[in-house]
Amino acid sequence: MNMYTDVAGWSVFRDSLGRGATGSSIGFVPTMGALHAGHLALVKSSQRDNDITVVSIFVNPTQFNQAADLEHYPRTTEADLALLQASNVDAVFMPDAASLYPDGYAYRVSESELSRHLDGAHRPGHFDGVLTVVMKLFNIIRPTQAYFGEKDYQQLQLVRGMVGAFFLPLGVVACPTVREADGLALSSRNVRLDAQQRAQAPGLFRALQSAGSAAQAREALQQLGFDVDYVEDLDGRRLGAVRLGNVRLIDNVAIG
Ligand code: AMP
Repeated sequence: MNMYTDVAGWSVFRDSLGRGATGSSIGFVPTMGALHAGHLALVKSSQRDNDITVVSIFVNPTQFNQAADLEHYPRTTEADLALLQASNVDAVFMPDAASLYPDGYAYRVSESELSRHLDGAHRPGHFDGVLTVVMKLFNIIRPTQAYFGEKDYQQLQLVRGMVGAFFLPLGVVACPTVREADGLALSSRNVRLDAQQRAQAPGLFRALQSAGSAAQAREALQQLGFDVDYVEDLDGRRLGAVRLGNVRLIDNVAIG
């Protein structure tokens, strides 16, 4: 497995892979590390479709609207690299913030509609940070296809929208949400749940799935003791975000 921490080093490798019909196809899985089976499912999809699979690990500071959330975000680099090695990933890109933000975040990608709703309404600036870093990573990695989880459904829609709006020359592939046996969507933040919160947490998925409407799901979640940020139906999916103590959980399910 090749590891790159700077753009120049990666670019030499990327150039060696060629481009167009004669070049290798490159599948790209962007992550913030603290890897779990959800991330590895994206890796598998990429390996199924492409000659080369590259994973990035970068805890992107610009998408955190709360300093404490960034500070407490789990970082498990050694275990992550072991997992990726065992999964036969070809290359890992692990830049630091200075090399991804030579401009100090003076330049950014901003979407003015969907990004202001749902998670965007509760996390001001979050999606500007996401879209900006994804645009940078796409330009650096130059993938044929990029893999995103349906777990972060609004993010997936916004990345698809950005690729369309800017005619970016790559495909976006969506992968279904990987869950624990009790229905809880795998998330790097789940390790921050205490035992009682962990027992409560699958209620989010169950309420989104079983309620007859978004309003009923919200009510059910409140009765289960969640602080509800939102529950809304969008494009045939029901999306919800809740808080248990200072851990925030999001999930979504297909409806109808
Ligand atoms: P993150 O490291 O949380 O930024 O996530 C990196 C990628 O993995 C994103 O495309 C997420 O949507 C995806 N992902 C995270 N959790 C899951 C999951 N439980 N199932 C499927 N994909 C996931």
